[in-house]
Formats: sequence, structure tokens, C-alpha cells
Amino acid sequence: MNNSTPALLRTLLLMDTREGSPEIQKAIEFVADILSECGVRYEIVCPVKCAPSIVAHIPGKSGKSIVLCAHMDTADFDKTLWHVDPLGAVCLKGKMFGRGALDCKSLCAVWLSLLTQIANSKIVPKHGITLLITSDEESGGEWGAKWALNNTQLLNDVMLVLSEGGGYPVYQNSSLLYTVQCGERGRIKIQGEYDPPKISRQELMQQGVSAGFYSEKTVEYSKHAPGKARHIPLKEFDAVQCERDNKYTIIYKLPFLDNYKLEIDPSRIIESVECGKTNGAIKFLPTLQRALTKHMDAQLLPIITPGYSDNRHFRNAGIPVLGFFPLSIDNGIAGIHGNDEYITQQSLDLAEAVLSEIVNTLAFQ
Ligand SMILES: [Zn+2]
Repeated sequence: MNNSTPALLRTLLLMDTREGSPEIQKAIEFVADILSECGVRYEIVCPVKCAPSIVAHIPGKSGKSIVLCAHMDTADFDKTLWHVDPLGAVCLKGKMFGRGALDCKSLCAVWLSLLTQIANSKIVPKHGITLLITSDEESGGEWGAKWALNNTQLLNDVMLVLSEGGGYPVYQNSSLLYTVQCGERGRIKIQGEYDPPKISRQELMQQGVSAGFYSEKTVEYSKHAPGKARHIPLKEFDAVQCERDNKYTIIYKLPFLDNYKLEIDPSRIIESVECGKTNGAIKFLPTLQRALTKHMDAQLLPIITPGYSDNRHFRNAGIPVLGFFPLSIDNGIAGIHGNDEYITQQSLDLAEAVLSEIVNTLAFQ
């Protein structure tokens, strides 16, 4: 079998792994076959129908491990709005199109290719390397990441989880920065309207630094109005973002702010999802920076994303997570969950080179 990252990605893109699709099982079995070929031990866990996850492990000497995480399920799509077949793995002008090309099958392919290379080298790493590919990230991760965390031994003694959620190139004036997801916003649904307290951005950013979610780079970035090219809107650094929904308000809050500080009346809360602490993840940033610098003249920008991924389950369990899948500058990301999702060959090469460097540093040194 051709285990190169583009070949693996192509096979995965040809399978329909939207929520509830029976082909999710086929995709997970394909991963299992690749792992079997190079003698990596794995376990497929499937607590509910159509949501299998695979956990594989290369043992290390120390008993500790790093976890390479990604998800096989994808968002839905409306074929009539695409210019190419979303399940066709169409290659055009250096881009590979398909639902899941960015979210998150490329990361699945990179992790799988990397794991097979390490296994085939027969060198025992200092720390173990665990692969976790889940199948229900898009529907909350309860039966994938969270279940695997609570029900398999392989996620004990984890030094760091590397996952999706960052790696987007942005500009600050003319300097290039790469986002790293160090946290996600918590989500609280309350009855009625909500008027957030005014907290100055400067105060917020300092609290974010103290809590280990931001760096001085983030503070600096948040002081300047964004440029015209790729940027993060400054409202991403607001204490809360609110959405009105009939009788309710959904509050997306920065994870280091407590409800008391945000003046959220507990009696009005209908639903609350916490997104955890950083658990010291920021201490791994220099390793990521060194790997990135070998390939790009760019600095890391720690951020908290508005999204929502499997990462919060690890953070809530006290495990450090960084979201980082570095893309090339010309890779548009509007297709994530939208139409004509694609990844460029340059992105795939960059991600593979940088992530392989990071994994090799963390696991072997
Ligand atoms: Zn995703």
C-alpha cells in the first residue's frame, strides 16, 4: 500500500464519513489495516453505532506518551453548491478538494503516515506515541474523545496532545504569524438577554497571559487594528460573544473568566459547557516554534478559538493540548464546513514537515 500522506488523504476523501454514515467504519478499518501492516498495536472502540474511534500506540521507554489526535467524521455538505464532487478527491492546480480536506482528514493522513514511518524505523522512542482518531467530533465528542479518555488505558500519563484548531497563517503588518490553539471558548445558554460587563481588553489579555492561554505576542497582536490581508478580527479577544436565540442568549466566554466575574446569574443558566484549563500546554510552544522556524519565517500566536472540538475533553481532564496544523499562506480556509473545501500540496508538505519535526523532538529527545 502507498502510505504517503497524499495517497492516504486521497483514500480517506473518497469515503463519506458524515455523521451516521456506515463508511466511517470503513475509514477506521482502513486506518487499522495500515497500522497492522507495520505492526502497530491498536484498539477500535465503538460505544455507539457509527461512531468508532481507533486508539493505537507505539510504546516508549518512559511510560509517558504524547497523543496525536484527529477526527474522521466530517461536516455535512450540499453537493449542488460545490464546483467539484465533495467525495471525489479531485486534484486541480495543486489543490486537493473534498469534504474533510482541512477538517480533519489531512491531519488524520499526516498522523498515520508519521506513525508508520516511526514504526518501520524500529527505533523505540523515549516517550510513547499514541494515535487517537475519533468519529463524533462534529457532534460533540462524547462517544469519541471523551469516551476513549475514560475507558482506555492508553490515554494515561499523557505529556501533550497535539490536535487540530490552529496553524492558520495571519499577518500583523508585514510579519507572518501562525495561530496555535491554546484554549476554546466555554458556552453558556441562559434565559433572556445578557448585557456583558465592560472589561478592558488590556486587563483581559493580561489575565489570559497569567492563565497560560496567551503570550506577549497575543497581547501585542490584540493592540493593533487588523490589516487587510489574513487576520483575526479583534472581537475574537472580547470577554464574551453573544448570540440571541428566541428566548435565550448563548454566551461564548473566554475560558479563564468565571461566571461570577461575567455577572451571569446562575439561576438563569440552562446549559453550560466548560472548555478547561491550559494545564501547562504553553511550555511546549518553544518546541513548536523551533520546528516552524526551520520552514517558515514566522512567529507563533497563541489564541483561544471560538470553535469547539475534541480538545476541550482533554483540557477538562487536566491534559495539555495544543491545536496546530500549519497551512501554507495561499490556503483559503473558508471551505471548512463550507463549500469547495480543499488543501494545497504546499500545506500538506508544510504540515507534514513541521509536525514530524515536533513529534520527533517530543518523543525522541
Ligand atoms: Zn475538526
